[in-house]
Amino acid sequence: MTLADNRVQAAGQCLPSYDVLVVGGGVLGLWGAVEAARRGAKVLLADAGRIGQGASFGLVGALMPHMPDKWNQKKQFQFDALVSLEHEVVALEAATGLSAGYRRTGRLVPLPKPHLRDIALRHSADAEAAWQVQGGRFHWHVLDRPPVDGFVAPETGACGFVFDTLAARASPRRVTALLAAWLRQQPNVTLLEDTGVIRLDDHAGEALLSDGERVRFAHALVASGHRAFGALAEIVGPLEKPLGQPVKGQSALLAADLDPAFPVLFFGGLYVIVHENGHVAIGSTSEDQFADAFACDGQLDALIDKARSIVPALADAPVIERWAGLRPKAIGRDPLVGPLPDHPRIIALAGGFKVSFGIAHLLAKAALAAVEGKAPDVPESFLPESHIALARRP
Ligand SMILES: Cc1cc2nc3c(=O)[nH]c(=O)nc-3n(C[C@H](O)[C@H](O)[C@H](O)COP(=O)(O)OP(=O)(O)OC[C@H]3O[C@@H](n4cnc5c(N)ncnc54)[C@H](O)[C@@H]3O)c2cc1C
Repeated sequence: MTLADNRVQAAGQCLPSYDVLVVGGGVLGLWGAVEAARRGAKVLLADAGRIGQGASFGLVGALMPHMPDKWNQKKQFQFDALVSLEHEVVALEAATGLSAGYRRTGRLVPLPKPHLRDIALRHSADAEAAWQVQGGRFHWHVLDRPPVDGFVAPETGACGFVFDTLAARASPRRVTALLAAWLRQQPNVTLLEDTGVIRLDDHAGEALLSDGERVRFAHALVASGHRAFGALAEIVGPLEKPLGQPVKGQSALLAADLDPAFPVLFFGGLYVIVHENGHVAIGSTSEDQFADAFACDGQLDALIDKARSIVPALADAPVIERWAGLRPKAIGRDPLVGPLPDHPRIIALAGGFKVSFGIAHLLAKAALAAVEGKAPDVPESFLPESHIALARRP
């Protein structure tokens, strides 16, 4: 990629010009901008609101592997992402002096029924076969007792516990702050807030911004969270179904003096994550139907009660924040990443649904491969073609 001229003549007018326009400053758009900037591109990232304050403004921050059985490309992609993320975080932390609140804590899953232990033992063997990296660094242990005291009530795992050593956690808000801080250090990057991209004309390579300005771009990464589905569909043309939908999630932050080295706890859909600084995150609901996208209600109270019952140290812990957001779920359930068919300037970078924070850096590398005219190195099910085919079915 070569750096384009700062200003080009378009229809007799001088417009600011960028190699890469990033639409949206959530965790995906921020990583997209980082990867573009690392390649020397001139980057404009425009967010309709505040950077990092869409779905990425969450509290939970679980970075979780897939089950290690029936290994496939998608599981390998997520595995590679979870292995490589810590190095990426270390590099950005060193450059900015900020912390992402990242720690490879592992994950603890109580096993309440005997058949779950049998499955866990099979998964343990599967993980030994599939998780081959750095001399077998990561494991799927099946234990009789929790590996740490003072955290989960031992009776929660009547038939034992899975303890995997691959999972990690990070603070979502710190991650986006870290990425934004690194981007602000780069002379080839411009960040705009409260400035939406309201139209992308890929033939002209021109975008209209909500402040009335127009900019030129060589490539645009569409990373506007759940809003990306509509924006991409406008470019693709008529479809039978939307390319994706928002799924509401509610979560909470409690104050409790627990050891930040405690593993991520996952039990029956509930995450309890001990972060740094005496913060414990609890999440989350998953709601396809909702009246108010950003309201918290009794469903969250039920999750908090459940967390208090399985982690006794949370019994009296005060709730310091309740938060709800809209996860972007693509029609194929997998991320939606890569150039749009017949519109190679427009590159989707969306649909991370529940796992964006663990894989965003690799999705961004794939998006930038597309900018460079190479095939993005992602499973086929992630590519726009796959999602569009589903959306075209009546
Ligand atoms: C309760 C909850 C818990 C979660 N827990 C986890 C977890 O534990 N682990 C995990 O990995 N993931 C988790 N997720 C999912 C994760 O937060 C999302 O998948 C991720 O934040 C999506 O990032 P994004 O960049 O695609 O979208 P967003 O963060 O929503 O960013 C999109 C941005 O685009 C901007 N935008 C929209 N339209 C335009 C436009 N026209 N022009 C310019 N900008 C625009 C928005 O203002 C926004 O800032 C959770 C989500 C929720 C709601």
